[in-house]
Amino acid sequence: MYLRLAKRLLFETDKRLLWKLAYLAGFRGLRSVQKHKARLKRGEFFPPFLYISIINTCNLRCQGCWVDVAGKQTKIDFAAMNKTLTEAKQMGNAFFGILGGEPFMHKELLDILAAHPDAYFQVFTNGHFITDEVAKRLRQLGNVTPLISVEGTQIVSDQRRGRDNVFSKTMEGLQNCLNNKVMTGVCTSVCKTNIDDLLQDAWVDRLVEMGVMYCWFHVYRVVGPESSPELALNTEELGRVRQFVVNTRVKKPIIVIDAYHDGQGKALCPAVTGFTHHIGPGGHIEPCPIIQLAKESIHDGRPLKEVFQQSEFLRDFRETVSKHTRGCVVLERPDILESLAAKHGARDTTLRQTALKEIAAITPRRSQYVPGAEIPERSWAYKLAKWYAFHDYGTYTRNFDKKDWVDPDAQVATSECCNDPLKSTCCNEPKVYTPTLPD
Ligand code: SF4
Repeated sequence: MYLRLAKRLLFETDKRLLWKLAYLAGFRGLRSVQKHKARLKRGEFFPPFLYISIINTCNLRCQGCWVDVAGKQTKIDFAAMNKTLTEAKQMGNAFFGILGGEPFMHKELLDILAAHPDAYFQVFTNGHFITDEVAKRLRQLGNVTPLISVEGTQIVSDQRRGRDNVFSKTMEGLQNCLNNKVMTGVCTSVCKTNIDDLLQDAWVDRLVEMGVMYCWFHVYRVVGPESSPELALNTEELGRVRQFVVNTRVKKPIIVIDAYHDGQGKALCPAVTGFTHHIGPGGHIEPCPIIQLAKESIHDGRPLKEVFQQSEFLRDFRETVSKHTRGCVVLERPDILESLAAKHGARDTTLRQTALKEIAAITPRRSQYVPGAEIPERSWAYKLAKWYAFHDYGTYTRNFDKKDWVDPDAQVATSECCNDPLKSTCCNEPKVYTPTLPD
């Protein structure tokens, strides 16, 4: 498989873009990890990767979207983005995730990317605004990879995204990128309605045939004002996604990204490990995109270095959550977020001002942490990459004890438990449940 992937990278790509990816995202990305490790040793903190939602506006209305897509347009303008990116680069950061809303609806997006040729950008997009002309500009810039979201076949895409003809418009944007040899990825938020269509070898083969270089199978998060909990995956389906990712990495000539497991298959949350944090369209500095709570902002007037170093809210988020789960606190223990918000006086960063109400309404459920069902990497290349850059940075090793984990699936049964998240242990908490995953 590695030879086939190497052949694709060598013969299907624009060599200048391949070099930029290798140097900016690869070499300089790994160097930012090295700097992060050195900072941690000195007791300093600055996340090596930042996700930045530059605008809230979007042309779609997806189930499970947490962004105020229909609200008054809020965006981080050219000057504020320049300041933020420059300060992060001074800390050694080189790779940035750009989200929205729909980032290509931000009129200054291409200028922002052009102003930072020494950084690499992954733009999360629905592809609807990537015309042939825009794709040509992305190729010219060379420091950007669009990650285009496909949420299902025609019918499911329209359902999931609340508009008509979503799939065909997305595929048109994708084809424009591929026609112009732009490094392009495809992602899916795997849920009940698309798991059988998209978690398939046939779908991955189609992406390879089209010229897509990497893919990402997220797991659907039950969040936002229209959270559609019926779409959430159960434990067996979570295991299927993980197994599919691990198998595809050794079978198919395409790069498969994931954000929730280390090389041994142990679960982690990249926000809890401090690998990444998020900046919202209003400039608020949040633990992650779906946790719309913050104490600080890029508009605070303090250097970003100081803000991350001194944020008690973010530090306590990492320390407290890592004591209770290796999974997603939003899905498993929304009560911990409520307690942290109350303790630190963190504000609701949404325009709709209902983030805390939405968190309180979440029914706890399993996430990527299923003890006893870890599926380790089969590919040596991913094992190596995860050994170097994608692990817990000591957070769970230091803080997590499996006996303190509250199994969401069992939690319902013992709802009379005191369940005080700031108490380190609780006598009534249920024992761990070991699911049998298909081999
Ligand atoms: S809190 Fe959940 S959604 Fe956010 S980064 Fe962690 S695992 Fe992902």
